[in-house]
Amino acid sequence: MPSKEERKTRYIFVTGGVVSSLGKGIASASLGRLMIAHDLDVAMLKFDPYINVDPGTMSPYQHGEVYVTDDGAEADLDLGHYERFTDRPTSKLSNATTGMVYSAVIEKERRGDYLGGTVQVIPHITDEIKSRVHKLADASGADVVIVEIGGTVGDIEGLPFLEAIRQFALEVGRSRCAFIHLTLVPYIRGAAELKTKPTQHSVRELRAIGIQPDVLVCRTDRPLDASARAKIALFTNVAPEAVVEAADTDNIYDIPVRFRKQNLDRLLLERLGLEAGEGDLSAWEAMLGRMQRPSGEVSVAVVGKYTGLRDSYKSIIEALTHGGIAANVRVNIVWVESADLEGDVEPAKHFRDVGGILVPGGFGERGIEGKIAAARYARENGIPYFGICLGLQVLVVEVARAAGLKDAYSIEFDVECPHPVICLMDEQKKVTRKGGTMRLGAYPCVLAEGSHAARAYGTLEVNERHRHRYELNNEYREVLAEAGLEVTGNSPDGSLAEVVEVPDHPWSVAVQFHPELKSRPLAPHPLFAAFVAAAYAARGRATSPEERAASKIPL
Ligand code: GLN
Repeated sequence: MPSKEERKTRYIFVTGGVVSSLGKGIASASLGRLMIAHDLDVAMLKFDPYINVDPGTMSPYQHGEVYVTDDGAEADLDLGHYERFTDRPTSKLSNATTGMVYSAVIEKERRGDYLGGTVQVIPHITDEIKSRVHKLADASGADVVIVEIGGTVGDIEGLPFLEAIRQFALEVGRSRCAFIHLTLVPYIRGAAELKTKPTQHSVRELRAIGIQPDVLVCRTDRPLDASARAKIALFTNVAPEAVVEAADTDNIYDIPVRFRKQNLDRLLLERLGLEAGEGDLSAWEAMLGRMQRPSGEVSVAVVGKYTGLRDSYKSIIEALTHGGIAANVRVNIVWVESADLEGDVEPAKHFRDVGGILVPGGFGERGIEGKIAAARYARENGIPYFGICLGLQVLVVEVARAAGLKDAYSIEFDVECPHPVICLMDEQKKVTRKGGTMRLGAYPCVLAEGSHAARAYGTLEVNERHRHRYELNNEYREVLAEAGLEVTGNSPDGSLAEVVEVPDHPWSVAVQFHPELKSRPLAPHPLFAAFVAAAYAARGRATSPEERAASKIPL
């Protein structure tokens, strides 16, 4: 029996057709923002048809960044879009894969819950899928639950999800559900025409499953003319005004505004039987305005090893953009492949014209010496440095080596290293299984008064999300302090270093957590804002410690 709360909830289901990578996550997140603009509370859920039980063990090359929620779920990167657009935290309830759904059903079967019965995709798997939508609706009490189905209509592995949402609409009432289908309308140069056939086919496939979309969102690289719109409407049984254009854009935060211009918010509210007032998107539009009219620009180098796939650093890219909004500057990212900094190379070649250097999180030894070289270059030349997770660990190794511990290293890369300045956390020593076993989720951290971090945050107690196994080795704290690296943030019991800084430097802050995961365009993360501001101030004036001492550049 659905709860009282749940009876009022409306549901928007977002599916995709024709090809993958059309930006379903951003479209769904944009719908979330539109609902919020109408004072409705929103909860979001992503179903991923792949079989991995969580995306945490997949290479970033396979699936982009692993997003981490406050409650420690390792999730699909679309949850990052949801949080950035809606400014609402997601949780373990916000993402489920085929693997998770099957594990739950198999566990029940083993327990004997279905004794005597044959366990099947319909109803057992579909029931489990539906129960996850109900669970989120119940737990959040949201007015609108937006459910994105990963993959493309027609994929074999997506079928149980589509069948489940078909049943769901039947059970809660079709009038409380809206189906949105995102498709591609390609332009064919030879014919000089936008082609609607792939969309027709994709909708036919969806209708064969029993789902009639209410709205089509059409990705195009040019405006969707009236004739294409009319043709799509006719062939798909969708009202012409519900055929919405989603033309390519270089600013994803503009999408809610573009949708609203086409009345998508009102269309949906009417469809769902919700009061459609004017809505208010003004704070969002003001943010966009600031973003589009920066008063300056700065280049920032991001030194990583997955730079070939930008999705691996999705939240970093977005958080830098947000930092730019706060500092009123446009941030241009210069990607530096860490392996390119290894061996006999002059780092300056890669860092010419950059105002700051960021080393993000990562795993494994490949490219690590390049990251250490980047940290060294930033420290020696007074270039603002922002280390995140592995970026903290390489700074620690770099400073230790500079202080004379030539063999300083992380035991992630050499278990026998003589100076393990980065070691395995105690709680990690007994861990043997790889899935979901890192230190995950939000933990409190206490900052040192007067530190760069405390100044940026404007408070001494913060709460940030983590995803790591290794930590600064406390036995080296003193040596590091003598070498000029201070621990300025700790877990409340003082046992884990969370933030380190080089005090004798314009801005060198490294954190064991992932601040990028909590940055929002409407609430840029303070550390990203401070880093971008420092990079902007430092652009074009890299200095050595001697020069800094001589010129008294304020620290
Ligand atoms: N590989 C490092 C660890 O496990 C850093 C992890 C990260 O950067 N997310 O501690």
